[in-house]
Amino acid sequence: MVFLLYFCEVIKKETMIEDVVKYVKEVIGADDERIEIVDSGALMAMSRGEKVTPREDLTWEGVPVLFGKEGMETHDGRIKINADLIASAAYVLGRGDELFGDCERDEHGRQIGKKSLLGRLGWTERPLVDEYRRILNHLTNKTNNEDEFKVILTHDVDVLRRGGRMATFMSLMDVRKSKHWTFDWMRMVSEPLRRKMKEKCEEIVFVKASYGLKQAKEDEPTYNLKGKDFCVLKDWCRKEGVRIGLHGSYLSGQETNLLIEEKNRLEVALCEKVTMQRNHFLRQLSPANLVTLEKLGFEDDYTTGWADCVGFKIGTCRAVRRLDLVTMEVGSLRTHPLSIMDCTLTDEKYMGLTAEPAKDKAIEIAKVVKRYGGELILLWHNHTVGKGEAHREIYKRIVESLVKDV
Ligand SMILES: [Zn+2]
Repeated sequence: MVFLLYFCEVIKKETMIEDVVKYVKEVIGADDERIEIVDSGALMAMSRGEKVTPREDLTWEGVPVLFGKEGMETHDGRIKINADLIASAAYVLGRGDELFGDCERDEHGRQIGKKSLLGRLGWTERPLVDEYRRILNHLTNKTNNEDEFKVILTHDVDVLRRGGRMATFMSLMDVRKSKHWTFDWMRMVSEPLRRKMKEKCEEIVFVKASYGLKQAKEDEPTYNLKGKDFCVLKDWCRKEGVRIGLHGSYLSGQETNLLIEEKNRLEVALCEKVTMQRNHFLRQLSPANLVTLEKLGFEDDYTTGWADCVGFKIGTCRAVRRLDLVTMEVGSLRTHPLSIMDCTLTDEKYMGLTAEPAKDKAIEIAKVVKRYGGELILLWHNHTVGKGEAHREIYKRIVESLVKDV
């Protein structure tokens, strides 16, 4: 009996690995019978929970590969690749570095991008997985889907108006007069881009729903979804066609009960199902958080990105399905990798760039995303735009550059 159970478990695992292989092949464009990628065994080792150590000295066609060997043979139109592109892509897409590697984290528990595997390889600003696809497409004479390029402008609403001593007095004022009400300004800036890109440019506002619940100091100040300020924002979003998602609180990544309550509260306030999410502080400490999100009925997550540097945390700028390297499961939740967060560019503790180089860096990343037909996801907080000219200027220049370039 025990042997039978063990046997069933092995069969189940192998089937699931096959699903992972099939999905990763689609993502990297290796789902072509002319391509054979030699299995290094790394994926099977990951499925058994064994510690796998990615190689940092192997490249294929100039792109780092984490598992496998050198060499590629072509014969009768068939291509045999010894570099295990499937295990390498799966490892990056599934955040293997955080699961199996020596992951360095900051004071909020988030992986430090500059010290991650991709950081060590000098590949934070190049989408490794998309590069595999580009080369494989070239080898099999396929097109590169550049026309799938999309721009998603997102705004996390951490605060709607200023807190502190003047909060009670200020609450009498129309929230649209608050310096944090920059939504109209951002909408005005993006108007030419939206007009040009049509349905390929969209805007999402992520709102907090943790008012009155257990919170960390990082969540304060917050706002009541039953209050008139939020009603004004909700009405504005509806009028403008801006979608609303949940901005899960600082603690909600660790405490599922909080996430359930926050989702429920937002659904009641909006009278609709909430399917999109991004964690406050980009605080998604483990790929396991995605499993929770999927179980709770979320369909799209926008958290995946580093706080300390811009770039491609899971090696792609395209939306991908959740990949669990522990259970070898391909989930239904779509992960939309964040490209650039406003404070990442300028904060001293992150990249510390001044306005001009910050704008140049953002445009550089936008060009990479466009080249790979990905989603350029910008995170500009309404309050950082309200705080000063620098972020207004950077945002305006990026959007203007996109209007010229798309
Ligand atoms: Zn936030």
